[in-house]
Amino acid sequence: MAKDFYKTLNVDKTASAAEIKKAFRKLAHEHHPDKNGNADNAEKFKEINEAYQVLSNKEKRQQYDQFGSTFDGAGANPFGGGNPFGGANMGGFDFSGAQGADFDLGDIFGQFFGGGAPNGRARSQRGNDIQVDMEISLKEAVFGKSEVFSLRKQVVCQPCSGTGADKGISYEDCKTCAGSGKITTTVLGTFRTQTICPECSGKGKLIKDQCGACHGQGFNEENTDIQVEIPAGIDDGQAIRLAGQGNAGQNGAPAGDLYVTIHVKNEAGFERHANDLISEYDIPFTMAALGGDIQVKTIDGKVKLKIPAGTPSGKQFILRDKGVTHLRARGRGNQVVIVNVDVPTKLSKKQKQLLEELNKELEVKKKSWF
Ligand SMILES: [Zn+2]
Ligand SMILES: [Zn+2]
Repeated sequence: MAKDFYKTLNVDKTASAAEIKKAFRKLAHEHHPDKNGNADNAEKFKEINEAYQVLSNKEKRQQYDQFGSTFDGAGANPFGGGNPFGGANMGGFDFSGAQGADFDLGDIFGQFFGGGAPNGRARSQRGNDIQVDMEISLKEAVFGKSEVFSLRKQVVCQPCSGTGADKGISYEDCKTCAGSGKITTTVLGTFRTQTICPECSGKGKLIKDQCGACHGQGFNEENTDIQVEIPAGIDDGQAIRLAGQGNAGQNGAPAGDLYVTIHVKNEAGFERHANDLISEYDIPFTMAALGGDIQVKTIDGKVKLKIPAGTPSGKQFILRDKGVTHLRARGRGNQVVIVNVDVPTKLSKKQKQLLEELNKELEVKKKSWF
């Protein structure tokens, strides 16, 4: 039973805002529940309003065009709890049957349904999220780190406990809604709808005397020490979320979150591939032939690597558990040492002599092979 709001208003999917408004006015007058006192008209009138509420709002219309087929499945009433549009309260129409004057419907609906809080709740005033960048060394990424840094952000005002009212108590009832937080409006004198009081955002109370420390905002900008635990194994570009450590919310609403995006500095001699660290070393061709040891830098310190006699160029040696810590598992990756054989381009006279002697020896061997 997917609703087609375009069909309801009898307009094209490409209809302009003006065309939609025109179509709505025409239909609203035709199906006004006052006419003939018809119950079907009341239902139809509600549908028309519902369609216009979405299609007359650029943002809601875009969402509807994109997700139209899915949000209807969430419940019979797309404007019920948890609706994705956060529109005004569409429930509770009350057709009282009183006579009304000829108002401009489009403008009235635009005013009443254009915004406001969803379903009787005050508009969310959750604090903003904050994102910061942090640079760490490769070693810190491997082993993790606890870091404290200073951040200027909005924090709950202490003197008023975030209420914005002097001493946290200086309130008076909102006169606009008589403290109820809601306003009942009669449109055309024929049906009533309840909306959130715009004066007090549904709280029913207004601040009488503002808190001097925060000028009624409920928060102040302050430098705050933030402690962040960087987990061992974190990779470049990953972010750590510190829930509730963003900016304070207004009037006691929850704070936003803080995201710390990690940048891992390059470290000479190491290249990270997932949790393995790759490093390359050159060895002289004599060592490749005869064997020997080299000093290899690892994240844990220097180690001796044995090069066996007859090592070909490009050979990989695995240093177990010398890589990066697995982020969500036990253990570490490996360090892979690639050994390249360095062939000299310049030789001393003596070196040349020695090599020629070696060559002769190999030539003799070669002859015996063929
Ligand atoms: Zn009010
Ligand atoms: Zn304050």
